[in-house]
Amino acid sequence: MQLVTDPDEGGLGFTEPLIAWYRKNKRSLPWRDSGDPYLIWISEIMLQQTRVDQMQPYFERFTAKFPTIFKLAQADQQEVLSAWEGLGYYSRARNLHHTARTVVESFGGAIPDTWDELRALKGVGDYTAAAVLSIAYHKPHAVVDGNVIRVVSRYLGIADDVRSAAVRKRIQATVSRWIPAKAPSDFNQAMMELGSQVCKPSNPQCRQCPLQAHCVASLTARTDTIPYKSPAAKVPHVNVVVGIIQDESNRVLIARRPDDVMLGGLWEFPGGKQESGELTTDTLHRELYEELGVKIGNVVFFHRLKHAYSHFKITLHAYTCSVLMGSPTARTSSELKWVSVSELDDYPFPKANRELTRLLNRRDDNEY
Ligand code: SF4
Repeated sequence: MQLVTDPDEGGLGFTEPLIAWYRKNKRSLPWRDSGDPYLIWISEIMLQQTRVDQMQPYFERFTAKFPTIFKLAQADQQEVLSAWEGLGYYSRARNLHHTARTVVESFGGAIPDTWDELRALKGVGDYTAAAVLSIAYHKPHAVVDGNVIRVVSRYLGIADDVRSAAVRKRIQATVSRWIPAKAPSDFNQAMMELGSQVCKPSNPQCRQCPLQAHCVASLTARTDTIPYKSPAAKVPHVNVVVGIIQDESNRVLIARRPDDVMLGGLWEFPGGKQESGELTTDTLHRELYEELGVKIGNVVFFHRLKHAYSHFKITLHAYTCSVLMGSPTARTSSELKWVSVSELDDYPFPKANRELTRLLNRRDDNEY
């Protein structure tokens, strides 16, 4: 039996059963059913970081608030960040907002339908451009995401490291040859759907798969070793210490992060990274003096929690405290505000800080 599927020949043996399977089994999804380029663009940005079932409630909340690109373009950045809250990767929300304004100003609100115009927009990479052009405008640009890499590497029996640029290039070139001019939208969505529903990372459902007859990994019982991914680099860990500074009216001080940094535009409790040899309370005193120009006292431990970002992990140590000397000044943040605990919900916070605002709200509820 010839087990090495020829990528060129694979086109028909792969594409036809795949698309037939998709048309019979596809899920009904609001952006898919609408055909609206705006909704497809939003969904593809969100899907870069999360699975369909997890992302759908966020998609519905976001598009209920901003049902058109015009509504999104008119919105204030804080409203956009609030509607995005919980999804993480906030630069994507800021880019979405910026791009909505560009599309309204330069294209009359119509999302461009050419590769060069789309790729020139902020936050639109190869993946998003290919997804929007194929799904919304039926142009034959093949998308390559984790699902596509898994399906193709198994189907062709590619045992090399899928983190390598050469393997990704090979897969991109292969699907770019296979994508049919007559059904590019179905082809791309079928690949992603098959990867998420059938050709799962572990225990792929090969018996239900339309590609099994020619799939090398399945026929050679290597679905547990293909795709091969070299171990990821160790993720660094940092301790972050923040102060929940309270005034005599029981308001708390919050700071807005500058737009051009990670989590830019979101609010947080002031603080920063622990330095080597410091106690967490030393960090608190140092950071609040450096960031706000104040000396603090009445320091009481409040909460500790762990949180993981894509490239590092943190342990967040939170203390309540009050100002003993000085008046808080925004030295490193773009804005400071004293707000009551019940008002904290009105501001967009990153996940770990949001957990602190929840605990503060609960603490205040229990006090009455
Ligand atoms: S036959 Fe199995 S391994 Fe091959 S593509 Fe289908 S689900 Fe994936």
